[in-house]
Amino acid sequence: SSFAELGLSAALVRAAAERGYVEPTPIQAAAIPLALQGRDVIGCAQTGSGKTAAFALPLLHRLDTWRPAWRRTYALVLVPTRELAAQVGETIRALSRHLADPVKVAVVFGGVSVNPQMLSLRRGAEVVVATPGRLLDLADRNAIQFDDVNLLVLDEADRLLDEGFADELARLTALLPARRQSLFFSATFPPAVQGLADALLCDPVRVEV
Ligand code: AMP
Repeated sequence: SSFAELGLSAALVRAAAERGYVEPTPIQAAAIPLALQGRDVIGCAQTGSGKTAAFALPLLHRLDTWRPAWRRTYALVLVPTRELAAQVGETIRALSRHLADPVKVAVVFGGVSVNPQMLSLRRGAEVVVATPGRLLDLADRNAIQFDDVNLLVLDEADRLLDEGFADELARLTALLPARRQSLFFSATFPPAVQGLADALLCDPVRVEV
């Protein structure tokens, strides 16, 4: 199959091709059509499987189709480490490059000064990629509004729990609109990870590759 056959817009197919993504990987072929339909998805996917584009492409497609209010936060991507936050942010920016309206992506993580991140969020970002502790800190400072979050992505959910983010995740997700789509990716599914998926997802489709 091709990315166009999965239902993605021409602008996204073109940006993917420019990154060297021509054939969808198995997790992409399975997850993208479901995500485009608005389903909640549990993806069992290792690093290297192409999981980032498996959520980034439908995220951008749905954001671009909907565009409710400019620079309100539409999608939230939670990741366990600052390195992953930077990588995911870069991938989302690159894949958005041919969309007619530019997408503002903010990347926030701990261990660095909070002020530039507050400014970046206050200027407005449709996509926020974050580690949970810092995002909660920013939420406590009223630097971000979650009212328009339509899509939540948890990337490397098993590592999010390994890093000790269970409490932060519970507090953050309680702030999000209940009516939303959620995409959940993890390499492993011990009971704690399955429990988190059960708590966050609504009638999910499980995708194993
Ligand atoms: P990830 O699992 O998201 O960390 O991606 C692993 C690597 O595969 C990254 O270097 C991606 O750029 C690359 N990649 C993702 N999707 C594709 C694709 N459809 N074709 C070729 N490479 C890809």
